[in-house]
Amino acid sequence: MSKKILEKIKIDFENSLQTVGTDLGKLEVLRVKFLSRKSELNKILKGIKNLSPEEKKEIGPLANQTRKNIESRLTDLIEEIQQKKDLDKDWIDVTAPGKKERIGHLNLLSKTQREIEKIFTSMSFEIADGPEIENEWYNFDALNIPKNHPARDLWDTFWMKNKNQKGEKLLLRTHTSNSQIHYMENNKPPFQVVVPGRAYRYEATDANHEHSFCQFEALVVGDDVSVANFKSIAQEFFSAFFQDEIKIRLRPSYFPFTEPSFEFDISCKVCRGKGCSTCSNTGWLEMGGCGMVNQRVFESAGYEKDKYQGFAWGFGIERLAMMKYQVNDIRHFRSGDLRFVQQF
Ligand SMILES: [Zn+2]
Repeated sequence: MSKKILEKIKIDFENSLQTVGTDLGKLEVLRVKFLSRKSELNKILKGIKNLSPEEKKEIGPLANQTRKNIESRLTDLIEEIQQKKDLDKDWIDVTAPGKKERIGHLNLLSKTQREIEKIFTSMSFEIADGPEIENEWYNFDALNIPKNHPARDLWDTFWMKNKNQKGEKLLLRTHTSNSQIHYMENNKPPFQVVVPGRAYRYEATDANHEHSFCQFEALVVGDDVSVANFKSIAQEFFSAFFQDEIKIRLRPSYFPFTEPSFEFDISCKVCRGKGCSTCSNTGWLEMGGCGMVNQRVFESAGYEKDKYQGFAWGFGIERLAMMKYQVNDIRHFRSGDLRFVQQF
C-alpha cells in the first residue's frame, strides 16, 4: 500500500515541478506540501516503525530515498534559478544603443582663438603671452602715448587701487599692444609673433562693446618689412579664417604707435563685395587698426632708431567670432547663458 503511495508522491512531485517555472515562492509551497511534518511522505516515514519487519525493509529505504530525491531536486532547482537571476543582473545587451556621456566643450571664444592661432602657426608665427595687469609705461608711454596727451583719452582705463613695489600706478591693460614692448625687450628681429589675450576698457556695454574683451596683437619686424607684407599676410589669414576669398582694403587713420596708420576693412563675406545689409551696402566690413611700427616704439623697446621696419595689427576676437558664427551681441560670450553656449 505505502509503496503505491510513494510512487504517487513521486509522480505528483515531478508534475508539480513542471508548473513552478522560476518562481521561488511556488517552490516553497512545494517544499511545504511534500516535505513538511503534515505531508503525506512524513506520515509514511512516521508510520514505518509500526510496519512488519519485511515491510520495514522494503518501505523504509524507499521512503527515505524519496525524501532525499525531493530535497535534492528542490535544492538544485533553487540554486539554478538563483544563478540565472544573477546572470540576468549582469547581462549586457551589446546591441543596445550607447548612452552619450555629457562632457563640456570649448566656449566659442576659446574655439575661435584656437582657430586663429592655428592659422598663424601655419604661417610660421610664434604665439606669445603678455601681462594683463600693467604699468603706464608698457600700456601707454612706450607705445608713444605720452602723459597728458589727448590720445590717452582714447582708452578709458580701469585703474588698480594699489601701486606696485616701485610705487608705479597699475592698470588693467587697455589693449594687447603692451605685449609688443615686452616681446621686443626679449627678442631681436627678424620675428613674427601674435599675442592673444584679454584687454579691458572702462566703458558702457552694448551689443558691440564689452568692458573686457579678447584681442589679437600681430607684430612682424625685420630689416625690410612693408605694408605690402601686411596686406598679403592679412589676406591669407582672413581667407583661411572665413574659408572664402577675402580682399583687404586700407584707409588712412591715426594711432600713436604706428606711422603710417590704417584702418583695415575686409570684403563683405555675405555679399562678396556687391553690397548688402550686413555691410550697409558698402561691400566692406571694418576689421581693426594696423600700421607700420612707429620708430619711437622701437626705441622704447631698446632698438636702434631706423634700424628695423615692422607692422603691427590688432583686432577683437569677439568681432571675428560674431562675423563667422553670426552672433549679434558681444555680451553673449560671457553671459554664461547655456542656451548660447550649447549652440557651438
Ligand atoms: Zn555685404
